[in-house]
Amino acid sequence: MLKQKHNVLIFIFCFFLPFFMLSGCKTTQKHCYNRVKVRQKKYVPLLQVCAKHNLSWDWDGFAKVVTVKNFNTEVRFCPGSALVSVNGKIYNLSIPIKIQKNSFVVPANFDAFFAKTVKSTESWQKLRKKNTLKRIVIDPGHGGKDPGGIGVKNIYEKNVVLDVSRRLKKVLLKEGIDVILTRDTDIFYSLMQRSVIANQAEADFFVSVHANIARTSSVHGFEVFYLSNEYDNFTKAVKIKDNIVRKIEKQKNYQYSADLNTVIWDMVLAENRIESIEMAKTISLTLKKMLNLKTRYIRGKKFAVLKNTNIPAVLLELGFLSNYNEAAKLSNPYYRQMLAEAIAAGIMRYKHKYELTNGFTI
Ligand SMILES: [Zn+2]
Repeated sequence: MLKQKHNVLIFIFCFFLPFFMLSGCKTTQKHCYNRVKVRQKKYVPLLQVCAKHNLSWDWDGFAKVVTVKNFNTEVRFCPGSALVSVNGKIYNLSIPIKIQKNSFVVPANFDAFFAKTVKSTESWQKLRKKNTLKRIVIDPGHGGKDPGGIGVKNIYEKNVVLDVSRRLKKVLLKEGIDVILTRDTDIFYSLMQRSVIANQAEADFFVSVHANIARTSSVHGFEVFYLSNEYDNFTKAVKIKDNIVRKIEKQKNYQYSADLNTVIWDMVLAENRIESIEMAKTISLTLKKMLNLKTRYIRGKKFAVLKNTNIPAVLLELGFLSNYNEAAKLSNPYYRQMLAEAIAAGIMRYKHKYELTNGFTI
Protein backbone atom coordinates (compact mmCIF):
# COMPACT_ATOMS: atom_id res chain seq x y z
CA MET A 1 0.00 0.00 0.00
CA LEU A 2 2.80 2.33 0.99
CA LYS A 3 4.80 1.39 -2.12
CA GLN A 4 1.72 2.05 -4.32
CA LYS A 5 1.37 5.53 -2.84
CA HIS A 6 5.04 6.12 -3.51
CA ASN A 7 4.62 5.11 -7.16
CA VAL A 8 1.66 7.45 -7.57
CA LEU A 9 3.75 10.31 -6.20
CA ILE A 10 6.60 9.51 -8.61
CA PHE A 11 4.10 9.42 -11.48
CA ILE A 12 2.62 12.81 -10.50
CA PHE A 13 6.10 14.28 -10.17
CA CYS A 14 7.23 12.97 -13.60
CA PHE A 15 3.99 14.07 -15.24
CA PHE A 16 4.19 17.66 -14.03
CA LEU A 17 7.97 18.08 -14.25
CA PRO A 18 7.98 19.21 -17.91
CA PHE A 19 5.36 21.86 -17.09
CA PHE A 20 7.45 23.20 -14.22
CA MET A 21 10.48 23.24 -16.49
CA LEU A 22 8.60 24.97 -19.27
CA SER A 23 7.27 27.68 -17.02
CA GLY A 24 10.78 28.03 -15.57
CA CYS A 25 12.21 28.66 -19.05
CA LYS A 26 9.59 31.22 -19.82
CA THR A 27 10.40 33.07 -16.63
CA THR A 28 14.10 32.92 -17.44
CA GLN A 29 13.55 34.49 -20.83
CA LYS A 30 11.30 37.26 -19.59
CA HIS A 31 12.16 38.24 -16.05
CA CYS A 32 15.25 36.56 -14.67
CA TYR A 33 18.01 38.93 -13.72
CA ASN A 34 21.38 38.09 -12.24
CA ARG A 35 20.38 39.25 -8.80
CA VAL A 36 23.06 40.42 -6.40
CA LYS A 37 22.90 41.24 -2.72
CA VAL A 38 24.47 44.40 -1.35
CA ARG A 39 24.16 44.90 2.40
CA GLN A 40 21.29 42.42 2.58
CA LYS A 41 19.33 44.27 -0.14
CA LYS A 42 18.45 42.69 -3.47
CA TYR A 43 19.79 44.36 -6.59
CA VAL A 44 19.70 43.75 -10.34
CA PRO A 45 22.15 45.00 -12.99
CA LEU A 46 21.05 48.23 -14.65
CA LEU A 47 22.18 46.95 -18.06
CA GLN A 48 19.75 44.04 -17.85
CA VAL A 49 16.88 46.36 -16.90
CA CYS A 50 17.77 48.58 -19.87
CA ALA A 51 17.82 45.59 -22.20
CA LYS A 52 14.43 44.43 -20.98
CA HIS A 53 12.76 47.82 -21.38
CA ASN A 54 14.65 48.79 -24.51
CA LEU A 55 16.31 51.78 -22.86
CA SER A 56 19.52 53.52 -23.77
CA TRP A 57 21.72 54.71 -20.95
CA ASP A 58 24.42 57.27 -20.36
CA TRP A 59 26.80 58.11 -17.52
CA ASP A 60 27.86 61.68 -16.93
CA GLY A 61 31.05 61.20 -14.94
CA PHE A 62 31.41 64.89 -14.20
CA ALA A 63 27.93 65.40 -12.74
CA LYS A 64 27.86 61.77 -11.54
CA VAL A 65 24.42 61.30 -13.02
CA VAL A 66 23.08 58.25 -14.84
CA THR A 67 20.43 58.88 -17.49
CA VAL A 68 18.35 56.07 -18.96
CA LYS A 69 15.78 56.83 -21.58
CA ASN A 70 13.52 55.69 -24.36
CA PHE A 71 11.45 57.74 -26.80
CA ASN A 72 9.15 59.28 -24.21
CA THR A 73 10.76 58.77 -20.84
CA GLU A 74 13.89 60.02 -19.16
CA VAL A 75 14.99 58.62 -15.82
CA ARG A 76 17.92 60.22 -13.98
CA PHE A 77 19.63 59.20 -10.79
CA CYS A 78 22.89 59.40 -8.86
CA PRO A 79 24.60 56.29 -7.52
CA GLY A 80 24.33 56.33 -3.73
CA SER A 81 20.89 57.92 -3.76
CA ALA A 82 17.45 56.30 -3.65
CA LEU A 83 15.87 59.20 -5.49
CA VAL A 84 15.10 59.04 -9.18
CA SER A 85 13.75 61.71 -11.46
CA VAL A 86 11.24 60.43 -14.03
CA ASN A 87 10.43 63.06 -16.64
CA GLY A 88 11.24 65.74 -14.09
CA LYS A 89 9.23 64.27 -11.22
CA ILE A 90 11.07 62.88 -8.23
CA TYR A 91 10.35 59.44 -6.76
CA ASN A 92 11.93 57.60 -3.86
CA LEU A 93 12.90 53.96 -4.42
CA SER A 94 13.69 53.58 -0.69
CA ILE A 95 16.91 51.69 -1.50
CA PRO A 96 19.85 53.57 -3.04
CA ILE A 97 21.22 52.75 -6.47
CA LYS A 98 24.79 51.40 -6.22
CA ILE A 99 27.94 50.73 -8.16
CA GLN A 100 28.95 47.08 -7.73
CA LYS A 101 32.09 45.66 -9.36
CA ASN A 102 32.33 48.64 -11.72
CA SER A 103 28.77 48.41 -12.96
CA PHE A 104 25.52 49.99 -11.88
CA VAL A 105 23.03 47.94 -9.93
CA VAL A 106 19.52 49.11 -9.15
CA PRO A 107 17.21 47.90 -6.37
CA ALA A 108 15.16 44.85 -7.37
CA ASN A 109 12.02 46.98 -7.07
CA PHE A 110 13.28 49.30 -9.82
CA ASP A 111 11.93 46.99 -12.49
CA ALA A 112 8.40 46.95 -11.04
CA PHE A 113 8.63 50.69 -10.38
CA PHE A 114 9.66 51.35 -13.95
CA ALA A 115 6.95 49.14 -15.41
CA LYS A 116 4.27 50.68 -13.21
CA THR A 117 5.28 54.32 -13.24
CA VAL A 118 6.63 54.77 -16.70
CA LYS A 119 6.33 52.01 -19.19
CA SER A 120 2.66 51.13 -19.38
CA THR A 121 0.63 53.34 -21.64
CA GLU A 122 -1.92 53.85 -18.91
CA SER A 123 0.65 55.17 -16.44
CA TRP A 124 2.16 57.30 -19.13
CA GLN A 125 -1.22 58.86 -19.86
CA LYS A 126 -1.68 59.49 -16.15
CA LEU A 127 1.75 61.07 -16.00
CA ARG A 128 0.79 63.35 -18.87
CA LYS A 129 -2.49 64.24 -17.20
CA LYS A 130 -0.53 65.52 -14.21
CA ASN A 131 0.79 68.20 -16.52
CA THR A 132 -2.37 70.20 -16.43
CA LEU A 133 -3.00 73.79 -15.56
CA LYS A 134 -5.67 73.61 -12.90
CA ARG A 135 -4.82 76.18 -10.29
CA ILE A 136 -3.35 79.64 -10.72
CA VAL A 137 -2.27 82.16 -8.12
CA ILE A 138 -2.92 85.73 -9.25
CA ASP A 139 -0.96 88.31 -7.33
CA PRO A 140 -2.24 91.89 -7.65
CA GLY A 141 0.83 93.97 -6.80
CA HIS A 142 1.09 96.40 -3.87
CA GLY A 143 -2.03 97.28 -1.78
CA GLY A 144 -2.91 99.05 1.47
CA LYS A 145 -0.14 101.41 2.55
CA ASP A 146 1.79 100.62 -0.66
CA PRO A 147 0.05 102.36 -3.60
CA GLY A 148 2.60 101.19 -6.18
CA GLY A 149 2.99 103.65 -9.04
CA ILE A 150 0.89 106.82 -9.00
CA GLY A 151 0.09 107.96 -12.52
CA VAL A 152 -1.56 110.86 -14.27
CA LYS A 153 -4.78 112.10 -12.70
CA ASN A 154 -3.73 110.39 -9.47
CA ILE A 155 -4.45 106.91 -10.71
CA TYR A 156 -3.09 104.31 -8.27
CA GLU A 157 -1.41 101.15 -9.52
CA LYS A 158 -2.71 99.12 -6.54
CA ASN A 159 -6.35 99.84 -7.52
CA VAL A 160 -5.93 99.17 -11.24
CA VAL A 161 -4.15 95.86 -10.73
CA LEU A 162 -6.62 94.65 -8.08
CA ASP A 163 -9.59 95.34 -10.35
CA VAL A 164 -8.01 93.67 -13.40
CA SER A 165 -6.94 90.69 -11.23
CA ARG A 166 -10.48 90.24 -9.89
CA ARG A 167 -11.89 90.36 -13.42
CA LEU A 168 -9.21 87.91 -14.58
CA LYS A 169 -10.18 85.58 -11.75
CA LYS A 170 -13.86 85.68 -12.77
CA VAL A 171 -13.10 84.86 -16.41
CA LEU A 172 -10.72 82.03 -15.48
CA LEU A 173 -13.21 80.55 -13.00
CA LYS A 174 -15.75 80.34 -15.83
CA GLU A 175 -13.13 78.43 -17.83
CA GLY A 176 -12.85 75.92 -15.00
CA ILE A 177 -9.53 77.16 -13.59
CA ASP A 178 -9.12 77.29 -9.85
CA VAL A 179 -7.89 80.78 -8.95
CA ILE A 180 -6.39 82.10 -5.74
CA LEU A 181 -5.80 85.83 -5.30
CA THR A 182 -2.97 86.80 -2.96
CA ARG A 183 -5.12 89.78 -2.00
CA ASP A 184 -8.79 90.44 -2.75
CA THR A 185 -9.04 93.80 -0.99
CA ASP A 186 -6.96 96.95 -0.58
CA ILE A 187 -4.61 95.38 1.93
CA PHE A 188 -0.84 95.35 2.30
CA TYR A 189 0.94 92.00 2.23
CA SER A 190 4.70 91.69 2.41
CA LEU A 191 6.53 89.77 -0.29
CA MET A 192 7.14 87.03 2.26
CA GLN A 193 3.40 86.74 3.01
CA ARG A 194 2.62 86.51 -0.72
CA SER A 195 5.30 83.88 -1.11
CA VAL A 196 3.71 81.83 1.69
CA ILE A 197 0.29 82.09 -0.02
CA ALA A 198 1.81 80.94 -3.33
CA ASN A 199 3.53 77.99 -1.62
CA GLN A 200 0.47 76.85 0.29
CA ALA A 201 -1.76 77.10 -2.77
CA GLU A 202 0.22 74.35 -4.54
CA ALA A 203 -0.72 76.08 -7.76
CA ASP A 204 0.50 75.30 -11.26
CA PHE A 205 1.27 78.87 -12.19
CA PHE A 206 1.86 82.24 -10.58
CA VAL A 207 0.75 85.43 -12.35
CA SER A 208 1.81 88.72 -10.84
CA VAL A 209 -0.11 91.80 -12.04
CA HIS A 210 1.43 95.29 -12.05
CA ALA A 211 1.29 98.58 -13.96
CA ASN A 212 4.25 100.70 -14.95
CA ILE A 213 5.49 104.22 -14.36
CA ALA A 214 8.16 105.96 -16.45
CA ARG A 215 9.84 109.35 -16.17
CA THR A 216 9.05 110.07 -19.79
CA SER A 217 5.31 110.28 -20.35
CA SER A 218 5.57 109.07 -23.95
CA VAL A 219 6.71 105.60 -22.88
CA HIS A 220 3.85 103.13 -23.23
CA GLY A 221 3.05 99.48 -23.86
CA PHE A 222 2.55 96.11 -22.27
CA GLU A 223 5.45 94.17 -20.73
CA VAL A 224 5.74 90.53 -19.72
CA PHE A 225 8.47 89.09 -17.54
CA TYR A 226 9.33 85.47 -16.90
CA LEU A 227 11.59 83.77 -14.36
CA SER A 228 15.08 84.79 -15.30
CA ASN A 229 18.01 82.50 -15.87
CA GLU A 230 20.52 84.99 -14.63
CA TYR A 231 22.68 84.90 -11.57
CA ASP A 232 19.80 86.06 -9.34
CA ASN A 233 17.89 83.03 -10.34
CA PHE A 234 20.78 80.79 -9.44
CA THR A 235 20.35 81.85 -5.81
CA LYS A 236 16.64 81.25 -6.08
CA ALA A 237 17.06 77.84 -7.68
CA VAL A 238 19.43 76.83 -4.90
CA LYS A 239 16.79 77.79 -2.34
CA ILE A 240 14.09 75.87 -4.19
CA LYS A 241 16.40 72.89 -4.43
CA ASP A 242 17.05 73.03 -0.67
CA ASN A 243 13.30 73.08 -0.08
CA ILE A 244 12.76 70.01 -2.24
CA VAL A 245 15.61 68.19 -0.56
CA ARG A 246 14.15 69.02 2.86
CA LYS A 247 10.78 67.62 1.79
CA ILE A 248 12.39 64.48 0.41
CA GLU A 249 14.46 64.03 3.57
CA LYS A 250 11.24 63.62 5.53
CA GLN A 251 10.41 60.50 3.53
CA LYS A 252 11.35 57.27 5.26
CA ASN A 253 14.44 55.25 4.37
CA TYR A 254 15.97 58.40 3.05
CA GLN A 255 19.49 58.20 1.69
CA TYR A 256 20.92 61.26 0.09
CA SER A 257 23.75 61.88 -2.28
CA ALA A 258 25.14 65.39 -2.50
CA ASP A 259 25.41 64.93 -6.26
CA LEU A 260 21.66 64.95 -6.51
CA ASN A 261 21.86 68.70 -5.91
CA THR A 262 22.90 69.12 -9.50
CA VAL A 263 20.02 67.07 -10.86
CA ILE A 264 17.30 68.76 -8.83
CA TRP A 265 18.66 72.23 -9.35
CA ASP A 266 18.91 71.68 -13.07
CA MET A 267 15.41 70.26 -13.29
CA VAL A 268 13.69 72.98 -11.30
CA LEU A 269 15.34 75.74 -13.21
CA ALA A 270 14.95 74.26 -16.67
CA GLU A 271 11.31 73.25 -16.41
CA ASN A 272 10.01 76.35 -14.63
CA ARG A 273 11.88 78.68 -16.91
CA ILE A 274 10.67 77.06 -20.12
CA GLU A 275 7.07 77.10 -18.91
CA SER A 276 7.36 80.72 -17.82
CA ILE A 277 8.76 81.82 -21.19
CA GLU A 278 6.06 79.90 -23.04
CA MET A 279 3.31 81.52 -20.94
CA ALA A 280 4.84 84.99 -21.44
CA LYS A 281 4.97 84.50 -25.21
CA THR A 282 1.44 83.12 -25.41
CA ILE A 283 -0.11 85.96 -23.39
CA SER A 284 1.77 88.51 -25.46
CA LEU A 285 0.62 86.95 -28.76
CA THR A 286 -2.99 86.78 -27.60
CA LEU A 287 -3.02 90.44 -26.51
CA LYS A 288 -1.70 91.42 -29.93
CA LYS A 289 -4.33 89.33 -31.65
CA MET A 290 -7.33 90.32 -29.52
CA LEU A 291 -6.58 93.92 -28.53
CA ASN A 292 -3.88 94.83 -31.04
CA LEU A 293 -1.78 95.59 -27.97
CA LYS A 294 1.92 95.53 -28.67
CA THR A 295 4.27 94.09 -26.08
CA ARG A 296 7.32 96.27 -25.45
CA TYR A 297 9.35 93.53 -23.81
CA ILE A 298 9.27 89.88 -23.00
CA ARG A 299 12.24 89.36 -20.77
CA GLY A 300 13.68 87.64 -17.74
CA LYS A 301 13.28 89.12 -14.29
CA LYS A 302 14.11 88.30 -10.73
CA PHE A 303 10.89 87.60 -8.83
CA ALA A 304 11.39 88.71 -5.25
CA VAL A 305 7.83 87.62 -4.45
CA LEU A 306 8.62 84.09 -5.56
CA LYS A 307 11.31 83.42 -2.99
CA ASN A 308 11.33 79.69 -2.27
CA THR A 309 8.31 79.07 -4.49
CA ASN A 310 8.64 76.22 -6.87
CA ILE A 311 6.21 77.18 -9.64
CA PRO A 312 6.57 78.79 -13.03
CA ALA A 313 5.63 82.45 -13.08
CA VAL A 314 5.06 85.51 -15.20
CA LEU A 315 4.76 89.14 -14.22
CA LEU A 316 2.51 91.38 -16.30
CA GLU A 317 2.95 95.14 -16.53
CA LEU A 318 -0.45 96.19 -17.88
CA GLY A 319 0.68 99.55 -19.23
CA PHE A 320 2.21 102.89 -18.22
CA LEU A 321 0.13 104.95 -15.80
CA SER A 322 2.52 107.81 -16.56
CA ASN A 323 1.29 107.83 -20.17
CA TYR A 324 -1.88 109.85 -20.66
CA ASN A 325 -3.52 107.44 -23.12
CA GLU A 326 -2.74 104.30 -21.21
CA ALA A 327 -3.75 105.85 -17.88
CA ALA A 328 -7.09 106.83 -19.45
CA LYS A 329 -7.59 103.33 -20.86
CA LEU A 330 -6.62 101.63 -17.59
CA SER A 331 -9.12 103.86 -15.72
CA ASN A 332 -11.90 102.55 -17.93
CA PRO A 333 -13.75 99.49 -16.54
CA TYR A 334 -14.62 98.36 -20.08
CA TYR A 335 -10.95 98.32 -21.10
CA ARG A 336 -9.98 96.52 -17.87
CA GLN A 337 -12.54 93.85 -18.69
CA MET A 338 -11.20 93.48 -22.25
CA LEU A 339 -7.68 93.24 -20.86
CA ALA A 340 -8.69 90.59 -18.32
CA GLU A 341 -10.46 88.57 -21.02
CA ALA A 342 -7.47 88.75 -23.37
CA ILE A 343 -5.03 87.70 -20.62
CA ALA A 344 -7.36 84.84 -19.68
CA ALA A 345 -7.55 83.78 -23.34
CA GLY A 346 -3.73 83.74 -23.43
CA ILE A 347 -3.60 81.60 -20.29
CA MET A 348 -6.15 79.19 -21.78
CA ARG A 349 -4.16 78.97 -25.01
CA TYR A 350 -1.08 78.13 -22.97
CA LYS A 351 -3.09 75.56 -21.01
CA HIS A 352 -4.19 73.76 -24.17
CA LYS A 353 -0.68 73.79 -25.62
CA TYR A 354 0.80 72.64 -22.32
CA GLU A 355 -1.62 69.80 -21.85
CA LEU A 356 -0.80 68.43 -25.29
CA THR A 357 2.80 67.98 -24.21
CA ASN A 358 4.42 66.44 -21.19
CA GLY A 359 5.62 69.83 -20.08
CA PHE A 360 7.71 71.75 -22.56
CA THR A 361 10.97 69.92 -21.96
CA ILE A 362 10.33 67.04 -24.36
ZN1 LIG B 1 4.11 97.36 -9.35
